[in-house]
Amino acid sequence: MTIGTTGRFEARDKRLINCEEVDVNQLMPLKYKWAWEHYLNGCANNWLPSEVPMGRDIELWRSTRLTPAERLVVMRNLGFFATAESLVANNIILAIFRHITNAECRQYLLRQAYEEAVHTHTFHYIVESLGLDEREVFNMYREVPAITAKDDFEMEITAAILRPDFTTATLAGAQTLLDNLIGYYIIMEGLFFYSGFAMMLSLHRRNLMTGIGEQFQYILRDETVHLNFGIDLVNGIKEEHPELWSDAFQARVRQRIAQAVELEIAYARDVLPEGILGLNADMFRDYVQYIADRRLERIGLAATYHSPNPFPWMSETIDLGKEKNFFESRVTEYQSSAVLKWD
Ligand code: FE
Ligand code: MN
Repeated sequence: MTIGTTGRFEARDKRLINCEEVDVNQLMPLKYKWAWEHYLNGCANNWLPSEVPMGRDIELWRSTRLTPAERLVVMRNLGFFATAESLVANNIILAIFRHITNAECRQYLLRQAYEEAVHTHTFHYIVESLGLDEREVFNMYREVPAITAKDDFEMEITAAILRPDFTTATLAGAQTLLDNLIGYYIIMEGLFFYSGFAMMLSLHRRNLMTGIGEQFQYILRDETVHLNFGIDLVNGIKEEHPELWSDAFQARVRQRIAQAVELEIAYARDVLPEGILGLNADMFRDYVQYIADRRLERIGLAATYHSPNPFPWMSETIDLGKEKNFFESRVTEYQSSAVLKWD
């Protein structure tokens, strides 16, 4: 292995991609401090779905107090997220991990993959609590066209990296990896997740399905870190390899995001055909376009839609730190902070 001039491995020898021949195992000294920060932020956000009491949700779900339109909102979002979290986890482990050649980023990816497992677990826990048909919920990604369309869009992005001849050593290959990172961090976790978050947190604000709402708040908190890591990673790779960020590639990114916006608007129309109290599909057209503009800006591209934000309370929700006691119902002490028990 070739290492720097001191004979010791130094932070400056590290690279985000195409660095296998140097060292992918040595975490310290850190070069990408943001990756370590995101890792620590993730660790500070430990939670498990089983900590959230579901009694009120079960009672409401069995009652006649929810309208069919509100039930559809709950079911479709459970169906979308139940498999979307697995798509993200598989993309991390099978597609991204081996091509990100930096130990602190890999440390973060390991943490994120675990969080995606907790998220998938959450949807199973909700299905079990409410007594839903798990086959129906977990098959929606095959059976509900608006969900299938989003997932197919993502799975093609994973498949491009899984081709046996794939390499980031060529310009086109490195651009395909960047396209994957944008497809997952910016589009899947940064765009496709956000209308579901807004829908479920809107119900929570009306005091409906508050257990699920609380779990969506935990997931949103995790996804905020995932998104921020992804943005730092994309911008970091751009900085190390400015040649990847050509005009043609920027046009390709814009095209992808525009396509994703259309898929997400179609999803909102499918979930809210008539609308429910406080929500209708047109608001989601604005919201998805508003979110897309914010994501474009974070990766250095100009906003295109200039739509108003119909849910200003969403950014308040996201911006609330733990110090403001966002998760006030938290009661569980982690085993890691208690005496070890082996039985
Ligand atoms: Fe997730
Ligand atoms: Mn995620």
